[in-house]
Amino acid sequence: MRVLVTGGAGFIGSALVRLLVGEGDVEVLNFDKLTYAGNPNSLRSIANKPNYQFVQGDIADRGAVDAALAVFRPNAIMHLAAESHVDRSIAGADDFINTNIVGTYTLLEAARAYWRALGEAEREAFRFLHVSTDEVYGSLGSEGLFTETTRYDPSSPYSASKAASDHLARAWMRTYGLPVLISNCSNNYGPYHFPEKLIPLVILNALEGKSLPVYGDGSNVRDWLFVEDHARALWTIVRTGRPGETYNVGGHSERSNLTVVETICDVLDGVVGGSSPRRELITFVTDRPGHDQRYAIDAGKLEAELGWQPLETFETGIRRTVQWYLDNDWWWRPIRSGVYKGERLGLVAS
Ligand code: NAD
Repeated sequence: MRVLVTGGAGFIGSALVRLLVGEGDVEVLNFDKLTYAGNPNSLRSIANKPNYQFVQGDIADRGAVDAALAVFRPNAIMHLAAESHVDRSIAGADDFINTNIVGTYTLLEAARAYWRALGEAEREAFRFLHVSTDEVYGSLGSEGLFTETTRYDPSSPYSASKAASDHLARAWMRTYGLPVLISNCSNNYGPYHFPEKLIPLVILNALEGKSLPVYGDGSNVRDWLFVEDHARALWTIVRTGRPGETYNVGGHSERSNLTVVETICDVLDGVVGGSSPRRELITFVTDRPGHDQRYAIDAGKLEAELGWQPLETFETGIRRTVQWYLDNDWWWRPIRSGVYKGERLGLVAS
């Protein structure tokens, strides 16, 4: 099988590429623009494998996408390339509109032209998996779960751009018959996570004795999913999911942001020790504008229909993640001293 992965140098994309290349009989082409979030170091362990290829390109560049499709001739496209950080989308939405909406449109059009020209058997087997987020559903109160039929109600420029791309992907299935599947997933965490996101930022700040910023009162709840569980879910969906269907992916691990930060402090205190409890580093900072209160996923459809289950609980996954950052400073030190030093992003000027 030949799989074209977009955004394969990002956090989730690189976990997926490492999984697929490790399968041995899957040929992988990683098509990635290498924005600030794309990091070839995340692919160091598989970069020289014979079943892995890389093309640097922009999904909004039709010529580059057409060329990659013509040369590689994939049986499936797994589309993860995106601008993904909510705070950056609040600071400026241009890249989010260009990549998440125009880029997804361009990719869908290129995929449609490629797919239409395939022979019948290949056309029948072809799949396009559009990877999206549970943030398209907006915010929950203290009860209830997002299902695949929850109404779209995005709050941030990021989630609005992802919602738009989901609608395009669904329309390309309904209108043109392109065999599209969509997955909407809760917050991921794990190794190789860019340290502007909550969990890696807190791990590294806590290690360096810096303050640990918690937005608002820390009561916002996210449903955490270990990134390798997500990568397995995506691989399951593209091989066995039904075209036209949407699958929610979640880890059954709802935690408030404050609990997440406290757990990381306690794990680090236990593993590396220190003169005082790291919880003392917690500082409450101005909340994110439009901050959704709670996300929680019902992944029952994916579990019942396709047999996927997360393998990590939050407690096992967070220990693995903390240990990975302790063991792999070669990966995060260049980022901390270069492109992103831990500054606050996404405050709206009053
Ligand atoms: P990321 O920001 O870590 O990586 C994005 C990758 O896309 C980078 O390698 C970047 O170079 C590449 N890219 C950006 N613009 C591009 C363009 N125009 N052309 C080609 N490549 C481009 O993102 P992530 O956290 O790995 O998320 C991957 C996907 O999963 C995204 O679609 C995101 O919306 C979705 N998602 C993420 C989460 C999460 O918790 N991280 C949760 C649910 C869904």
